[in-house]
Amino acid sequence: MNSMGKMIGYCGINCEKCEARIATIMNDNKMREKVSRKWCELFQTDIITPDKINCTGCRSDGVKYFFCSEMCKIKPCVTSKGYESCAECSEMDSCTILVAEIGENEEAKDNLKIIKQMCGRG
Ligand code: SF4
Ligand code: SF4
Repeated sequence: MNSMGKMIGYCGINCEKCEARIATIMNDNKMREKVSRKWCELFQTDIITPDKINCTGCRSDGVKYFFCSEMCKIKPCVTSKGYESCAECSEMDSCTILVAEIGENEEAKDNLKIIKQMCGRG
């Protein structure tokens, strides 16, 4: 687990604030529908149906959103290097895998920077 806790993912995204996780924890089908519409629009797809909005977080043992568990390239890369997150990686600032996954998510980038400082690599 990284020094910021279990809910900060390998990529820096805070799963605690993720609407898919909140909908899952609350078992809120209306919220699942809302997140489904929002993410379909955001990612220009129609495959993120409400039944796919089920996730308890990237580092949890529970159910996970299919993209985060099966398609995200960050976790396999981080764990193959023996790290807890990208914050430990010397390639973080130039990594194209990381950019492709978190894009312009400034909060995720800031979380990685904070972890980097906390583990003395910043
Ligand atoms: S792993 Fe789950 S909770 Fe975390 S960002 Fe992905 S969908 Fe949201
Ligand atoms: S190479 Fe990129 S994705 Fe892999 S651990 Fe380093 S920063 Fe993260």
